[in-house]
Amino acid sequence: QGDEETKIKLPRYVRVNTLQATTADVVEHFQKDGFIHVRHICRDYNEFLTEVGKLKAKEFMTDYTLKDLLVFHPGTSFFGHMLYDRGDIILQDKASCLAASALAPPPGSKVIDSCAAPGNKTSYLAAIMENKGKIHAFDRDAHRFSTMQTMLLKAGVLCAVCKNLDFLTVNWKGRNANDAGCGSSYDDVEFMLVDPSCSGSGRNDVTTSSSKSKLLIGRLKSLSNFQSMLLNHAMRNFPSVQRLVYSTCSIHKEENEDVVLDALQRNKHFRLVRIFPEIISRG
Ligand code: SAM
Repeated sequence: QGDEETKIKLPRYVRVNTLQATTADVVEHFQKDGFIHVRHICRDYNEFLTEVGKLKAKEFMTDYTLKDLLVFHPGTSFFGHMLYDRGDIILQDKASCLAASALAPPPGSKVIDSCAAPGNKTSYLAAIMENKGKIHAFDRDAHRFSTMQTMLLKAGVLCAVCKNLDFLTVNWKGRNANDAGCGSSYDDVEFMLVDPSCSGSGRNDVTTSSSKSKLLIGRLKSLSNFQSMLLNHAMRNFPSVQRLVYSTCSIHKEENEDVVLDALQRNKHFRLVRIFPEIISRG
């Protein structure tokens, strides 16, 4: 109501990079470093969230949904930690992990990650695929693309082919009309992730406000147009795709539900499926 604002402190999430370490080994390593693994058996997701809210400094839990994700107290720092430096753990929010987990390509799959840099979801997809199969990881931004190459190398990802290009110039035949058939073609891709640039309003410590400024409304309009363009391109131009995940790190409906519902209206060959039923509170 009104202009009331609430500051929310999000916990720190640490994903175990199962390409290089097991969850059990990482848990043991943290315990040896003086951290306490809180093993509370939660009956449902709400109880889990309550327990996460009670975490003290140096305490952590295993996530309720993803067993390779650890949840720490909000202030915990991992920079300079050996596991982080080695690429055995990746600092990745649960929301980001859920996108790759929802796509769930089995080992051996052919995948397109259309907006991939800096590569957090690509590296999780590679872990889910046990480094077997192929991920075409595109990004149009040269600087972010180079960060992704470094990140994927550090994470031991072997099944990703990174391409510094605009996803909108690619279709199932390859890149552009000119070199279709000469370079890669994507006619066997079954899984697609569309994770476009967004307002980032759901990241880090969020300030929620019930009112939207005129400036924000204008920005959301232009972002959602761009997001719709990418999602529609993905749905129309890759006929072999069987499962597609659209994700953003925004909490605005304009960038999420509105984009998805509009794309479903325009692409009747896709249907929406409900995932993660344990997460009751949505939107
Ligand atoms: N998926 C990434 C991860 O999990 O680390 C984060 C992606 S970030 C939210 C969005 C990315 O989309 C940016 O790196 C941006 O450069 C890229 N991008 C935006 N438009 C694009 C396009 N038309 N083709 C390819 N990449 C694009």
